[in-house]
Amino acid sequence: MPIATLRPETWIRTSSAGLYCEPGGFHIDPIRPVPRAVITHGHGDHARSGNEAVLATPETIAIMRERYGEAAGGSLQPLAYGETLAAGDVTVRLVPAGHVLGSAQIVLEYRGSRVVVSGDYKRRPDPTCAPFEPCNGDVFITEATFGLPVFRHPPDSPEIDKLLRSLALFPERCHLVGVYALGKCQRVLALLRRAGYEQPIYLHGALLRLTELYERLGVPLGAVLPATRVGREALKGRIVLAPPGALADPWSRRLPDPVIAMASGWMRVRQRAKARGVELPLVISDHADWDELTATIDEVAAAEVWVTHGREEALVHYASKKGYRARALRLAGFEEEE
Ligand SMILES: [Zn+2]
Ligand SMILES: [Zn+2]
Repeated sequence: MPIATLRPETWIRTSSAGLYCEPGGFHIDPIRPVPRAVITHGHGDHARSGNEAVLATPETIAIMRERYGEAAGGSLQPLAYGETLAAGDVTVRLVPAGHVLGSAQIVLEYRGSRVVVSGDYKRRPDPTCAPFEPCNGDVFITEATFGLPVFRHPPDSPEIDKLLRSLALFPERCHLVGVYALGKCQRVLALLRRAGYEQPIYLHGALLRLTELYERLGVPLGAVLPATRVGREALKGRIVLAPPGALADPWSRRLPDPVIAMASGWMRVRQRAKARGVELPLVISDHADWDELTATIDEVAAAEVWVTHGREEALVHYASKKGYRARALRLAGFEEEE
């Protein structure tokens, strides 16, 4: 068979555990434990515990170890960005995805056919991780978390300025910002530092370990302190970061008259902010918005686009209209995550 006619779907397909590369014998971001897993990044719906063998960037492996301890996997093999590894007849390479620290696109080659699995990604600069590198191939498998034309994220710095302005306006109040523990927390810290905010920032206990891990992995985030170790008075006029789930729970009642903020791409949707009781929505996303998704499809220019987890239909429609062979993968088990 001539190489050019090797159809990608003959060697990479969906199985009940997720995306499966048959000649390589491994799954990508499997949703249940498998013998061999290649993991794109450390978010819980992509990096699950209990696989026998795991291949990922050194940072993702460090994150999995921090989260899961022994259960992170039987053997954990790091592969740095840009290095290649042979798995059976398949060559595996990890390329930065710009989503969170260690996040990678997985570039697979088999008998002259190349598939790029983006994992989750974003295109705008993030001081806490390496930028997305467009990678051309025969198939580009893209996420679609914000895959609707209504989703357009504003630039980050005016959103951070909103927080700093509110802080100046209400010096007697504490500002409680909901952030996800991996990625968003550290990015908000880094963006605040970049905006010139030098005060200590206080963290909910659930955010401490991964933030310390980022520091150990070489991402400077300035002075961070556990929020529980200081009294109510001392938190007036301060910024406190907490997981979204803690915004409304009893934990937050000890804070002095908090302004409730949240940093998420979903804060664009007024009802979502309202439902969480968020007074100060900050539209800061670790996922590509509609413009970034479509621009990336065009830049990567793979003949085929497979769309997974999120709002697949609109993106499949866009790609088909532009002349790509496009389809929705309908992988189960992934969350909205932001
Ligand atoms: Zn993610
Ligand atoms: Zn995801």
